[in-house]
Amino acid sequence: MAKSNPKTPPMLDKSSLRPVRYDDVLNEILAHHPSADVDYLARAWAFGAKAHHGQKRKSGEPYFSHPIAVAHILAKAKLDLVTVAAGFLHDVVEDCAVERKELVRLFGEDLAEIVDGVTKIGKVQFRDRQQAQAENYRKMILAMTRDIRVLIVKLADRLHNMRTLFYLPEEKRRRISEETLDIYAPLAHRIGISHFKIALEELAFFYLEPEAYWELDRQLAQRAKMSRHLIDTISAELKTILNQNQLDAEVTSRIKSRYSIHRKIVAKETVLEGIFDYYAFRIMTNTVKDCYAALGVLHERWRPIPGRFKDFIATPKVNLYQSLHTTLIGEQGIPFEVQIRTHRMHRTAEEGVAAHWTYKDGRLTSVGKDRYTAWLRKLADEHEEVKDTHEFLATIKDQLQPDEVLVFTPAGEIKSLRAGATALDFAYSIHTELGHRTTGVKVNGKLVGLGSALNTGDIVEVLSSPKQTPNQEWLKSVKTPSARNKIRAWLRTEEQKKSIELGKNMFERELKRYKVPLKSISKETIGEHLPDFGFKKVDDFFSAIGFGRLTPLKAVTPFLPEDARVKPDGKEVRESRLESAIKRITKRSGEQVLVKGQRDVLVYLAKCCNPIIGDSITGYISRGRGVAVHKTDCAMLKTMAVNPERRIHVEWDRHCEPQLFRVRIRVYTEERPAMIADVSHAIADTKTNVKQLKASVNNDKNMGVFDIVLEIHSLDHLEKVFKRLRAIKGVLSQERLS
Ligand code: MN
Repeated sequence: MAKSNPKTPPMLDKSSLRPVRYDDVLNEILAHHPSADVDYLARAWAFGAKAHHGQKRKSGEPYFSHPIAVAHILAKAKLDLVTVAAGFLHDVVEDCAVERKELVRLFGEDLAEIVDGVTKIGKVQFRDRQQAQAENYRKMILAMTRDIRVLIVKLADRLHNMRTLFYLPEEKRRRISEETLDIYAPLAHRIGISHFKIALEELAFFYLEPEAYWELDRQLAQRAKMSRHLIDTISAELKTILNQNQLDAEVTSRIKSRYSIHRKIVAKETVLEGIFDYYAFRIMTNTVKDCYAALGVLHERWRPIPGRFKDFIATPKVNLYQSLHTTLIGEQGIPFEVQIRTHRMHRTAEEGVAAHWTYKDGRLTSVGKDRYTAWLRKLADEHEEVKDTHEFLATIKDQLQPDEVLVFTPAGEIKSLRAGATALDFAYSIHTELGHRTTGVKVNGKLVGLGSALNTGDIVEVLSSPKQTPNQEWLKSVKTPSARNKIRAWLRTEEQKKSIELGKNMFERELKRYKVPLKSISKETIGEHLPDFGFKKVDDFFSAIGFGRLTPLKAVTPFLPEDARVKPDGKEVRESRLESAIKRITKRSGEQVLVKGQRDVLVYLAKCCNPIIGDSITGYISRGRGVAVHKTDCAMLKTMAVNPERRIHVEWDRHCEPQLFRVRIRVYTEERPAMIADVSHAIADTKTNVKQLKASVNNDKNMGVFDIVLEIHSLDHLEKVFKRLRAIKGVLSQERLS
């Protein structure tokens, strides 16, 4: 029994663990390509065997057993000779220091390119593993766009490594399995090689959650007899009914993969009993017309579950998958899923892009493979722009998510987006510039919010204006990292621009105090002093002043005439009035506000609205004074919107010392005895200091009015006070005054 050795992946039949020999590879190839260049293959094998001579795998086997197994997987998938030969040689550059030149000379440019593509970047020193991983993906994606066979070899390589993963320590097994689920299985799905995808997922599931795996295995075995009976009954009935309707079709059935059943169980928070359709039926016809005819017949016989019917024939998936999907309600209300497709569609569904690299009648057919690589090219282009390692990895993972929505442009062009993508994501997916200028989005003719999620079948139209620009709020309206990265990049540049403008202004003001006009200082002169401050560019210098990292006084000092550095009373100038004012402010309040992405910025809380921690806030660059922090809904701020480019994103820094803010509130009450006592007790209950309390009576309305100044440390705190006050009998309403 397989369980006697729980380390061995149970889904592997003995043949996939038995050492593979050269003859096995050759026989696979000759089976579908009898006139293959056997000499070429033999040379590749011999070269690889020699290069890896003496190396051992973790299992103790000779290293070359691995490349042979990879070549065998590729041959079994009916790939062309160059790809199979690349399987033999895929590790020689990385592990044996064979030069690319030599591969080109002996085996041709194509093979060398494939091997190079799967070779990890070796000589560069990386900061950490994450960066190394990101750079390797970057390289691999680029190589894949040139030749998709790079990916096919990489997948076969990964598949064999997964099959032999139990020789590695637990920690490494986990990491490799996670990467397989995050990156390689989705990539296999994207290029449509479903047997690779399923095999990779099953193995990763086995290593990551062995207990769940074995439990599911046990339950499926327990129900095997019943499942078999159900499957046979339905299969027979499907065959009969198709026959009766003169439809020439093949019916097959299968239990779905353990990983997909497991995912369903987790998603539905249920047990195996709660998942009915863990088996599926497939009907394969000769023509597209027959697919729809078969569907009609089935829907007449069984009731379909509404919302489960999908027509991927009319609208193929990104990986060119085509099929009709429907779920029918069978005997005793047990649902079952049926996929209907032509034999040709089936081949595409199973082999994907590989079908375009295989031999038909002895000839290589590479037709249509570009359709698989178009999205890859887009992926590669976008990733050029993403410099941050973490963002890059997140973006890749996200873009490989298989769930997608298919929407239409007004011209009827199909666009695929990941599930959950919003109207604004759509705009960015068309073009970065269009995204930046989006003023509104119409879905099916109706104007919707930028953050509205799209559904398959929606017709989406983007409205734009050249005057529009992105803002911080937009980050909440997008779900794809790719759109988020684009908005962030734009905002970052914009904030940089603002800080430069502000810094230049502060610099000029400071100079003016010494009667030195900015114009009198040449760019070259500034340039000469930049190294003193540790900057390379003038912009960085001004930006540092704007963001308060460099005080204006320090910044101007080298540009002042000698005598200007000393005040008439003989004391050296230390601080400008402005600076000391700012220091006072920042000491009091500045440390609790962070300006997005920047440290040590000069900030102060605006007096007009007195924001407290937890309030939604917006920064406003006041010339020469740093950043004023207002409540986002502050009326003053709205009047300043005439200059929207001076707005800047700020947020509360939650990691710093608690601090008290003075907040003025007004409470309206019924007029009754002891109301004052009740109100002050309520406040005292919340351990809040009262700085001022004024009670008055509005005789016209027979109402008590309390004006209170409190010391509050956060919005939560204030809300607690409000809640407590509301609970007093006779309190009518309350408001925060600013
Ligand atoms: Mn390898």
